[in-house]
Amino acid sequence: MKNKYELIYEGKAKKVFSHEDVDKVIIEFKDDATAFNSLKKARFEGKGKLNCQISAKIFELLINSNIPTHFLELKNENTMIAKKIRVIPLEIVLRNIAYGSLCKQTTIKLGSTLAKPLIDIYLKNDELNDPLITKDRIELLNIVSAKDLDSIIGLTLEINRILQKFFKNIKLQLVDFKLEFGYDLKNNLLLGDEISPDNCRLWDLNQKNDIIVSLDKDRFRNDLGGLIEAYSEINRRINDFI
Ligand code: UDP
Repeated sequence: MKNKYELIYEGKAKKVFSHEDVDKVIIEFKDDATAFNSLKKARFEGKGKLNCQISAKIFELLINSNIPTHFLELKNENTMIAKKIRVIPLEIVLRNIAYGSLCKQTTIKLGSTLAKPLIDIYLKNDELNDPLITKDRIELLNIVSAKDLDSIIGLTLEINRILQKFFKNIKLQLVDFKLEFGYDLKNNLLLGDEISPDNCRLWDLNQKNDIIVSLDKDRFRNDLGGLIEAYSEINRRINDFI
């Protein structure tokens, strides 16, 4: 993007630029992909555009269900305008089905449906490898108040209800996802970051014989190939439905 806008922050999959309005930012979605805390890296032409479009549609869906989010509008194919937020350094993971790190760290069987959604909270800190964190440690470190942590958990459960229903309609199983929250300049708690196949596990429900077909970043994590095809399929199903 042209240097009319100042680069405020560059993450693994996104760049954040200043906006002429102090309470807004411009978020550019990159084609870069990382996994296993950046041990694995690759570039997928068109991924940024797809994640930007998918995220925008999902944020709109959530906003229509009264979930407060940072999303304001799409700027172009791979950039969106969002409210400027102070990101809370927590990664809130909600799981409906046991997969990924839950199965590496416990004896739960891979692919088992959980009796109720499980929320795992991680400290967002690359140097520490994003460790799992407890409520008491969050309080100890003064990361967020107990009241706001309760609001974050309540919002995450509500977002899961909305997304599970939505994805089921387009024949996708929402296995798990990761959210990030923050405060805008008026200290309102908002959902931030992105919601895309980079941070959701989505399985194709159009498969027979219970075969797992991942249409998400597991295609890159597990060297399955066809990442852009999978993300394009999700984008296509969303656009056909909305
Ligand atoms: N996730 C994410 N960023 C992370 C870690 C996890 O977006 O740094 C997402 C991931 O895509 C999945 C969910 O959170 O949808 C649960 O991931 P898990 O803890 O199983 O970790 P992983 O299998 O990626 O090691």
